[in-house]
Amino acid sequence: MKLGILGGGQLGMMICQAAQKIQVETIVYSDTSDSPAINFSDNHFISNYDDFGQIDNFINKCDYVTFEFENIPFETLKYIDKKKNVFPSPTINNIIQDRLTEKEFINSLDIDTVPFLNISKSLILSEIDKEFFPSILKTRRMGYDGKGQSIISDKKSLINLDQDKYILEKKIKLKQEISVITVRYQDESLFSYLPIDNTHKNQILFKSVSPAMIDDSLRDKALLWSKKIIKSLNYIGVICIEFFIDENNKLYVNELAPRVHNSGHLTIESYNISQFESHIRAVCNLTKVKPQIQYQAEMINILGSDISKYRDAQVKNNNFFHDYFKKEPKEGRKMGHLTKIKV
Ligand code: ADP
Ligand code: MG
Repeated sequence: MKLGILGGGQLGMMICQAAQKIQVETIVYSDTSDSPAINFSDNHFISNYDDFGQIDNFINKCDYVTFEFENIPFETLKYIDKKKNVFPSPTINNIIQDRLTEKEFINSLDIDTVPFLNISKSLILSEIDKEFFPSILKTRRMGYDGKGQSIISDKKSLINLDQDKYILEKKIKLKQEISVITVRYQDESLFSYLPIDNTHKNQILFKSVSPAMIDDSLRDKALLWSKKIIKSLNYIGVICIEFFIDENNKLYVNELAPRVHNSGHLTIESYNISQFESHIRAVCNLTKVKPQIQYQAEMINILGSDISKYRDAQVKNNNFFHDYFKKEPKEGRKMGHLTKIKV
C-alpha cells in the first residue's frame, strides 16, 4: 500500500511514522525543503503545488492520496482526485479554506457558531449592534495559529477595509476550548476520540489534556455535532472539530480541521491507536481499529528556541519528547512537543 501525503510538516511526519509501523509506504509532496515529513517518508517530491508535471510523477507512485495541510490549492487537489482517490474529498477544502463558507456550512446543519458578519459592500456599519464589540477581525483565507486576526473595539476600525476579505466575529468570554477527533472509514463506520481540553497562548495551542473535564451533556453534544458534520460531508479519514464553551456553558463550533490535528498528538501514547494510524487506516481502506483510551495524558507544544532545552535534557519516565527536526527555530514556530501520560 502506497500513501501520498501533500504537505511536509510535523503532521505529515507523524503520519509517516505511523505508516512505518503498519507497513504502509509513504510519498510526501511538499513545497519546502525544510520539511519534517521527508525525514520519515519512503519517497518525496519538493516542488510547488502547481507544478503539475511533478504532481503527475507523485500521483503515479501512490495508491491513495491525503493531505496534512488544508490550504493545498483546490485546483491541485481536484486534479489529483480525477486520477487517484484523495481522502478526505477535496470538496471539504473548498468549504473550509474560507472562514465564511465554513461557518455558513456549520450553521446550515443547525449547529451554532459564534455570531459573525461578512465584511462586504452590503454590510451597513450603522446597523451593527454595539453588543457586537469587542470582536475579532479574521482574514477569510489562509489564517492559522492566530495569524491574520486582530481585535476590533469599535465600528470606526471597519472603515476602509477591503471588501469580501474578512469576517468579523464576536469575541466571546471563553470558559474552555475543546476538540473532538473523529475517524470515518470507507464503509461509513465512524469512531470519535474523547474530547480534548485545549489551552492557547497568543492564539497558538499551548497545552492539550485528555480526556477533557466537561459535563456529560456538553460531551455528548460535542460528539453528536461532530458526527453530524462528518456524515454530512461523507468524509473519509480523520477530522478535528474545535469547539468553544462560553461562560454560560454554551457550546459553539469554532472551526473544522480536515486532517490530523495538533491536539491529537497525545493519542500516540494514550490510546490503543493514534489519530495518525486511524487516518491511514481509513484513507487506505485497511482493517478498522476502534480507538480506546488507555491513559490520561497531557501534551505541551515546544515553540521556537525552547526546543534546545528539550534536545539537551533527559526525558523522564512516562514523558515522550517528539522533535520535528526543523532547522530554523523561529519565534512561535512549532518545533516539537512533549506528552506526559498518567499510568
Ligand atoms: P486559527 O485558524 O488561527 O486557529 P481560530 O479562529 O481557531 O484561528 O482562533 C485561534 C484562537 O483564538 C482560538 O483557539 C481562541 O483561543 C481565540 N479566539 C478565536 N476566535 C475567538 C472568539 N470569537 N472569541 C474568543 N476567542 C477567540
Ligand atoms: Mg483554530
